[in-house]
This record gives sequence, C-alpha cells and structure tokens, in this order.
Amino acid sequence: MRIDEILKKKRTLSFEVFPPKKGQEGLDKIFNTIDKLKEFKPDYISVTYGAGGANRNSNVEIASYIKNKVGIEALAHLTGGPSSTLDVDSIVKRLREENIENILALRGDKPKDYDLEYCKTFKHATDLMHYLKDEDFTLAGACYPEGHSECDTLYEDLIHMKEKELAGAKFFVTQVFYDNAYYYRLVSEARKMGIKSAIIPGIMPLVSPKNIPSIKNMCGASIPLDFRNMLEVYKDDPELLEEFGINYAVYQIEDLIAKGAPGIHLYIMNRASIAKKIYERLEHVFSKLF
Ligand code: FAD
Repeated sequence: MRIDEILKKKRTLSFEVFPPKKGQEGLDKIFNTIDKLKEFKPDYISVTYGAGGANRNSNVEIASYIKNKVGIEALAHLTGGPSSTLDVDSIVKRLREENIENILALRGDKPKDYDLEYCKTFKHATDLMHYLKDEDFTLAGACYPEGHSECDTLYEDLIHMKEKELAGAKFFVTQVFYDNAYYYRLVSEARKMGIKSAIIPGIMPLVSPKNIPSIKNMCGASIPLDFRNMLEVYKDDPELLEEFGINYAVYQIEDLIAKGAPGIHLYIMNRASIAKKIYERLEHVFSKLF
C-alpha cells in the first residue's frame, strides 16, 4: 500500500534498516532482524541506499524481502547524487518488478573525496523526483529540523523542501534530532511556507557517548545538555547508557505524539533489540494512538 494513503488513515510506526557492507551472512542477519521487527507491527520499514558506505546492490533485495516475504510495506531509499540515469533506470525497473511502491528520493551523502563529478546528473533530490515523476511510485523526501549543513539558514532549506513537495514528495521523513523543539519549529515554518505533506519525525536512540561525534558530523544534530550529561556521567556503564538512551527516545516519542506528530520513524541501527525495548515501553500507546 502507498504510505501516503496509510498516513491519511492513521499514525505510522516505521523502522529504518541499512544493507550490510557485504556478504550473504550480513544479508541473512538483516533478514533475521526484519523477521523480528514484524512483531512490533510497523506500517513500513525503510531501507537506506549506500548510506555510510553500505552496499547499494542489496537495497532492492532487502526492500523486496520486507514487502514480499514478510508482508510489511517497504520504503526504498534512492540517491540521485552518485547515479547516472542508466543506474536509476535499472534500480527503478527492479523496484517495479518487486512491487515496491514507495521511494524516498534523496541526493545522497557527499563522499569524503567529493569532486565536481559527483551529482553530475541529479544535483539535488528534486532532480531525481522530477525524473521519477511519471513513474508510478509514491515519493517521499528528507528534511532537516536543524537545517541542512549546506544551507546557511533554515528558511533557505525550507524553500528547497517546498520544491520537493512541488516535485512530487507526498510526505517527509526528518533527520535525527534530540530536541523536539527543532521539529516543532520545522513543522510550524513549513506550514507557513505552504508545505502541506506529513512530516514524520525520525528518532534515533543514542545509547553511547561514543556516538556523539558521529551524530554531530553525520546528522548535524545537537544534543541537549541534560541528556549529554546523563550519557557522560555513565559513560563506562553500557547497560545504564542503553537504558538512559532508550528512555530519552521514549520521552521524545511521547511528547511528539501528544503534540500531534503524524507518525514515528525509528532509526534502530539494524538492532531489533532497540525496537523491542522501545515498543515494550510504549506498546499501549502504539496500540491506542497509532
Ligand atoms: P537535497 O534536497 O538535494 O539537499 C541538499 C542540500 O542542497 C540542502 O542544503 C538543500 O537545502 C540544498 N538544495 C536543495 N535543492 C536545491 C536547489 N535546487 N538549489 C540549491 N540548493 C538546493 N543518504 C544516503 O546516502 N543514503 C540514504 O539512504 C539516506 N537516507 C536518508 C534518510 C533520511 C530520512 C534523511 C534525513 C537523510 C538520508 N540520507 C541518506 C542523507 C542525505 O542523503 C544527506 O542529508 C544529503 O546531504 C542531502 O540529501 P537530500 O535528499 O536532502 O538533498
């Protein structure tokens, strides 16, 4: 089913997984994770495309497993930046063959050795969206509660978010954030710009202070001082840290739901155990309000 159609009827709970770097063993592991995620009744599961150096080739295979073997809706990420039209055509053909109906159309992370050859054909996510417009997919776009790192102002970024909606994005999924105020500001400013689509908050439990630098570098998300303090005080106790990180994510989710978020997208880092811990704490909330 189209995710925008689901969103018209209910709040969505979704998880994000990423393909293993390589190997059948890695694939079997992710299939096993997806099997476990079914228990938490997600409305869809998204699969990243090449993020963090992950293997691009297995993106369609994993999306197909989600949709055709496990019976959960799949949202396949697709990045235009590094791709030619031939690359995109071939992925789109495979997605169509596997009955995948939803694509999160992105530009993609710029590689470290960025040069002008990168983003030759699809400079921005909107270029990919325009290219896919006549294909029969529901398109989604990414958005950034604290603004995208390449934009000087949130307003500039919002103009491009509006362009994504005009190019066919039917809903948005946000970058990770740890201070809900950024999400509320994004939604409020987006509505003022006339953006009408659902904006689904993306939550990633932060379970170790070691992850703070990568969160800041990769996602640009700031960590509130209180939360950072909790992580640092207990930095040598992994069990306590996980507990604090999960509880903080649960607090964020409850606040988001109470203030009307249209769904929750959980970045679970391929760990079904994280999804389970959050689900168990919120089972009643999910069954009543989703
Ligand atoms: P764009 O929309 O192209 O935006 C990039 C920058 O350019 C922004 O600053 C934007 O404001 C600006 N911009 C946009 N349009 C224009 C224009 N016409 N003129 C001038 N400036 C413009 N990366 C991966 O590699 N694989 C993944 O699977 C993946 N999944 C993600 C999922 C989510 C929910 C999110 C939030 C991010 C994901 N990313 C992924 C990371 C993403 O690719 C990076 O954040 C990337 O830097 C920007 O992608 P975008 O689609 O938002 O690009």
